[in-house]
Amino acid sequence: MSKEREAGDGPHRDAKRDEMQQGGAARCRVCGGGPLHRWVHLPDMPLTEELHPPAHAGKPFLADIDVYVCEACGVSQTVGMRDLSPYYIDYGYTVGQSAFASLFMERLAVAVRDRYGLKPGFSVVEIGSGDGVQLKSFERAGARVYGVEPSASLCQASRARGIPVMEALFEPATAALLPEAFRSADVLLLTYTFDHLPDPSGMLEAARQTLHPGRGLLVLEVHDLDQIVERREYCLFEHEHYTYWTKETLKGALGRCGFRMLTSELLPASQRRGNSLLIVAAPMDAAHVPDGRAEADRIGTTIDYSGFQTELDSGIAALDAFVAAESAAGRKVAGYGGGGRGVMTLAAMSTAGQIAYVCDANKALHGRLAPKSQVPVVDIARLAEQPVDTLIVFSYGYMAEIQEAVRKQPNAPQRIVSMLELLK
Ligand SMILES: [Zn+2]
Repeated sequence: MSKEREAGDGPHRDAKRDEMQQGGAARCRVCGGGPLHRWVHLPDMPLTEELHPPAHAGKPFLADIDVYVCEACGVSQTVGMRDLSPYYIDYGYTVGQSAFASLFMERLAVAVRDRYGLKPGFSVVEIGSGDGVQLKSFERAGARVYGVEPSASLCQASRARGIPVMEALFEPATAALLPEAFRSADVLLLTYTFDHLPDPSGMLEAARQTLHPGRGLLVLEVHDLDQIVERREYCLFEHEHYTYWTKETLKGALGRCGFRMLTSELLPASQRRGNSLLIVAAPMDAAHVPDGRAEADRIGTTIDYSGFQTELDSGIAALDAFVAAESAAGRKVAGYGGGGRGVMTLAAMSTAGQIAYVCDANKALHGRLAPKSQVPVVDIARLAEQPVDTLIVFSYGYMAEIQEAVRKQPNAPQRIVSMLELLK
């Protein structure tokens, strides 16, 4: 959990000032070119992690989320810099509680090892290694592992698990600070970290310096922008994201930074996390051979940039219409999922006030309010105490697990519906 802060402190105030300073002549943060065209606008959105106790109600950080696309390289991105580093220090985000997520981590480690024939003792460095749970999977798969993580509390959790970690934000200069045994690594791993970095090209440059030139592998997991657009999944546009990637734009950026994409099919979609684009790349001169699909992927996109804002607004309107109709029919509604998807989805809805509460398995969130929408996050047991007729699942990626847990509750809601169905 992020520490509670007063609105106007530290990163908040800086972010607001940066918003005001950003002009129209911005250069692309990936290729340095442009021009940039805005195609997503979400007004007054909070930070995904800033759930607060009721006493702090009404004072969350709010700023517009604007996403631009670069005409030169096609990468979608935010404009301007905001220093969220103080925010990351206490950023306690982790997905380790879900059985599905744990299984994914095991499968990822085994798939990387087996597909590329890595021998016992292969070295793995993870950037943004969190509580070390993913590296633990690699260790079980026979690797020597090392993490880099800016959050002090997550570093502590990682060390408690026996996973060595450096407390730092990874920058090009950090590569030289790694222990000797990890300076020419076999695998460099970033899961849902790459899109949180303001300078992705600098990161790729640092990655090339960190990896063994002949056999190194770069494993990247980011949200898939093509899927976000297709599903109108606007909650994945977050202040914490600097860039948004499609398979094609990622392949292009990798190529410009001396990497070759080897595959985007390491694991089948059914085994990946919600909306995950998982790719493996290697330094251009490495011995690895790309699979046919990675070679054939053309650079280009099917995203209708000029039409998406209308689609997005229709999605939010459809969600609001559903909640309004349920309320009008006297049916009570609650949500499931107090993480980023729930927080951001609720923040853009005009009917959030008609949602009684949001259940979540994460005890640290219980008793807190989602920023802006002020919907309380509660234990799943609330479903028995204060029954509802309809449950909207925001964390739809764990739908099967959630349905199972909800149906075990006394007075379980009659209808459990995925947010994705309502956004259409
Ligand atoms: Zn560009």
